[in-house]
Amino acid sequence: MEEDYVFKIVVIGDSAVGKTQLLGRFTRDEFFLDSKSTIGIEFQTRTVDIARRRVKAQIWDTAGQERYRAVTSAYYRGALGAMLVYDVTRRHTFDHAARWVDELRAHADKSIVVMLIGNKADLAARAVAADEAAGFAEEQGLFFSEASALSGENVERAFLRLLEEIHANVS
Ligand code: GDP
Repeated sequence: MEEDYVFKIVVIGDSAVGKTQLLGRFTRDEFFLDSKSTIGIEFQTRTVDIARRRVKAQIWDTAGQERYRAVTSAYYRGALGAMLVYDVTRRHTFDHAARWVDELRAHADKSIVVMLIGNKADLAARAVAADEAAGFAEEQGLFFSEASALSGENVERAFLRLLEEIHANVS
């Protein structure tokens, strides 16, 4: 069946926070232990029902380019949503979130819906408290969820929430 909407979503955040794994979890319900298998692949899709509409989520991965600060404005063009990911066990990846928000403000559409994701919530060695991240998200006008691409916890819920918020904006 034809979809009613195609929503472009970009996944951003520092290297190795789990962007690719979150994408794989949501689009294929998979987790690859230590592979960087999507290098070169630009986006993956999954179609879901949102408010009785068929919504195709077209989710873009940086494919490692964030390492070279080479995420260009073409990557953000047309994006209606962003997943801004940090790793709850590595403090600096959260500290950098403000810079990624600046990137979005500079390159993305002003109405872009942004979800901050504290990934790797399955790990005990935590360096960022959920409360602190929730406070930052509120300050910046972002939605927030912790998640684990490894266990799958909250991944589906976070993506669906983002898609619902985008849908509410466009419908
Ligand atoms: P990217 O560079 O942001 O795309 O990060 P990747 O998706 O390649 O993941 C980086 C590393 O973190 C890999 O070794 C993954 O196996 C691991 N990883 C990703 N998500 C999780 C998670 O939710 N929990 C745990 N424990 N490890 C994860």
